[in-house]
Amino acid sequence: MVFDSVDDRGHEQVSYFTDPETGLQAIVAIHDTTLGPSLGGTRFYDYDTEDDALEDVLRLSEAMTYKAAAADLPLGGGKAVIMGKPDDLKTEDLLEAYGRAVDRLGGRYITSVDVNTGVEDMETVRRTTDHVVGTSDGLGNPSPITAHGVFNGIRACVEHVYDTDSFDGLEVVVQGLGKVGESLTAELADHGAEVTVSDIDEDHVAAVADEYGVDTVAPDEVYDASCDVFAPCAVGGVINDDTIPQLDCDIVAGAANNVLAERRHAEVLREEGIVYAPDYVINAGGLITVAKEHLGGTREEAFDEAAAIGDRLSEMIDRAERRDTTVLAAAEEYAEERIEDADSTDETAIPAE
Ligand code: NAD
Repeated sequence: MVFDSVDDRGHEQVSYFTDPETGLQAIVAIHDTTLGPSLGGTRFYDYDTEDDALEDVLRLSEAMTYKAAAADLPLGGGKAVIMGKPDDLKTEDLLEAYGRAVDRLGGRYITSVDVNTGVEDMETVRRTTDHVVGTSDGLGNPSPITAHGVFNGIRACVEHVYDTDSFDGLEVVVQGLGKVGESLTAELADHGAEVTVSDIDEDHVAAVADEYGVDTVAPDEVYDASCDVFAPCAVGGVINDDTIPQLDCDIVAGAANNVLAERRHAEVLREEGIVYAPDYVINAGGLITVAKEHLGGTREEAFDEAAAIGDRLSEMIDRAERRDTTVLAAAEEYAEERIEDADSTDETAIPAE
């Protein structure tokens, strides 16, 4: 089962770590290090079975390879899962044992925060390994940088669809006013867009509407709100067979991870004449921030690099048009080309016979 799953996706290495004293059971998957060391967060989750944990870590680490390559970062894709209930299991001893496990990989895998692991946990992990980013002395909260990347990604889509780089009067619906959605709302409003916001937290919606002078829409009416851009910044899976027919927009571009319920929905959106900015391309600002922390650099540089997401997305949109395919397929092709190019110029590679 393990070899089949790994061979299917081309992972370089999958390592299992256990520490009976603390109850640590972790899997680290390194998908591809052609462009650089693999980087990806540690997910602490109570999986039903070991197979579920393996499937998740393989899928997530592969996605990180594409995300880093599509962001032009000198990094590969990796991810880790720690199995078990965080409330029962997460102790400093366990996290230190986990840090020792990460350390044994010698820098081929760099870890960070993910579901159920936070900045404080990474501080503990750092006691036993240097191969960790996202600690409190890093570059700070990545969310405004993620929002800046999304803002510039929207600009690229707007240029393509409306042939203008102006946000003046652009109608944008932002779904989810969390760390990213609120920053994005502020930046859009600041540039003259007509923003409508939505969140399940009614008090927060009212506060944001008041602060930035934007309109609101109820969570269950958000999909059929007429607009130019729908920016999903809440949860995954919101672009699906039920919601696509309701959409009354030209562009879907937001921060939410795994926003398509299924990959085929990229094609459905294209058939509907809606430009879709792939989630992992447009929301790469967070990864860019921790990569800057690892490689050395400033928060300002991270903002600049997040802005460059717009140019890359334009290139992918043009490529999709030339190839008569989805932007998602074009983004994957872009990432694969970067890895192939690096592979063929790798001096350490053994030439084929
Ligand atoms: P967050 O948890 O701070 O905010 C999410 C917001 O969405 C909350 O205000 C919540 O009330 C709201 N929400 C939840 N369900 C909703 C629904 N059905 N309708 C409307 N609102 C709903 O999260 P965040 O950090 O702002 O991230 C938002 C999305 O972007 C997530 O999918 C996240 O994975 C992704 N993302 C975030 C970053 C980052 O830097 N924070 C980076 C990359 C991707």
